Amino acid sequence: MDTDKKPPQRTENASMPKSDTTSNTCLRCGTCCEKGGPCFHLEDRMLIEKGKIPSKYLYTLRRGEQAYDNVKGCLVPVASDIIKIKGQKNKWTCVFFDEKKKACSIYNDRPVECRALKCWDTDALEQIYGRNRLTRKDFISQVKGLWDLIEDHQARCDYEKIKNLIKDLDGRKKDGAQRKLLEIIRYDTEVRKLVVAQGGLDPAMLDFLFGRPLTKTLQNYGIKVRQEGKKTFIHLLLHPRQNGRI
Ligand code: SF4
Ligand code: SF4
Repeated sequence: MDTDKKPPQRTENASMPKSDTTSNTCLRCGTCCEKGGPCFHLEDRMLIEKGKIPSKYLYTLRRGEQAYDNVKGCLVPVASDIIKIKGQKNKWTCVFFDEKKKACSIYNDRPVECRALKCWDTDALEQIYGRNRLTRKDFISQVKGLWDLIEDHQARCDYEKIKNLIKDLDGRKKDGAQRKLLEIIRYDTEVRKLVVAQGGLDPAMLDFLFGRPLTKTLQNYGIKVRQEGKKTFIHLLLHPRQNGRI
């Protein structure tokens, strides 16, 4: 494993990474790795299949989920799965970034976005950014049973459906919308428990298989989810019409 810090990559929830330099060489400052791990593309498939980057370190932004588009510079619903490297210690910093050494711990096996990223010239990254995205289907569609469950989860927890229910929390359909939203949140929670308890899956795999839990992601839509024992409650953090994200 090479721990030399050499030209790293792109970002997570910020615009294209810029170091504080005007030079056109990598200063190995680590800013790009601290802004978040890369998205995966078809060229990266073998890194995951060969276990160079174990899937427990990945998470999925599911189709329809709001995500920051690094090229457009705004939040957009993603058109298909986006698979990304997790952050570390509740920060965006890529889990493979060694903060003490300011180095990539998987440098020789870093994904294609990391290879393309030059903060002083983002052309190469912009060329590949939205193309040939790797999806969960590329890995899991052959695993009968698990793939059926993932497709069922995607349909029942569809973000477009969720957005419409959130809009309806504002009007005469409020009670029905709240009930349906709670059902979706409970299903999302229960399916995760089920595959761990009955399927023996590593809990660290859940964010890759089912995306991040709705109990977390709905905050991006102005909804706070609170769970007390078996009961689930939702609270509007923002009035639905004031929430520019839906
Ligand atoms: S590419 Fe830029 S931001 Fe990333 S380590 Fe090099 S100088 Fe820093
Ligand atoms: S894989 Fe390596 S180069 Fe890419 S963001 Fe993570 S630490 Fe940086």
